[in-house]
Amino acid sequence: MRTIIITGLLLTALGCTQKDPTAFLMDARWVDLTHAFEENTLYWPTNTPFSKDTVFYGITDKGYFYASFIYTAEEHGGTHFDAPLHFGHPDSPTVEQIPLQQLMGPGVVVDVSEKALSDRDYLVSVSDFLEWESQYGTMPDQSIILLQTGYGQFWPDPLSYTGTDLTGEEAVAHLRFPGLDPDAAQWLVDNRKINAIGLDTPSIDRGQSVYFKAHRILCHAEITIYENVANLDKLPDSGSFIMALPMKIKGGSGAPLRIIAMVP
Ligand SMILES: [Zn+2]
Repeated sequence: MRTIIITGLLLTALGCTQKDPTAFLMDARWVDLTHAFEENTLYWPTNTPFSKDTVFYGITDKGYFYASFIYTAEEHGGTHFDAPLHFGHPDSPTVEQIPLQQLMGPGVVVDVSEKALSDRDYLVSVSDFLEWESQYGTMPDQSIILLQTGYGQFWPDPLSYTGTDLTGEEAVAHLRFPGLDPDAAQWLVDNRKINAIGLDTPSIDRGQSVYFKAHRILCHAEITIYENVANLDKLPDSGSFIMALPMKIKGGSGAPLRIIAMVP
């Protein structure tokens, strides 16, 4: 009997002191890298933008409050995800086929804002990646690279963020914002094993791009892309952990994205 009581007391004591192994997750600083979806959310000028209408809002005839809305939007606007199908080939993976392990990874924040803010057509180059690596070492496998161009501060003003406040087909030729050099995209495919690359502009190809070569290189290599990412200035260049969960649209070429970062 005494043994049972002592064992019980011991277990209780152990239980009290045992630390929850997931506690570090709640203790960490979490950063939301997502712009809210609303009427003025920026979409590609030829796309159908986000709209939200009221289905019901108020007190029902049974006396309780009830709210419900309907929204419409194309896949590629606001903070969003590009699946390899977007610029790959008809058999490339669609949104729901991307494994969870590819939707997360160590954050590699490459800050090119000084150069990009003084040149709207700036292309992020291999030397920008090598400069990051000279400080923090080789990008880890499964990295998520986030290009900080500094254009996130202009969101959601179309003129300063995208280069034009025109809409529709006539706007496209006037788009001017920085992006990724296709040669740098190819270098990543050939030399590093990254999960995804994102940035704080409307497209991984710069605004003046016509053939979307960076998109095509990345999609063919099944590297996913995040566009219109928010709050990159709140992340350290190295040491964060990124989780990027797109709406699971079956057969989708892209989707609205909720992306967050954990900074331990
Ligand atoms: Zn897209």
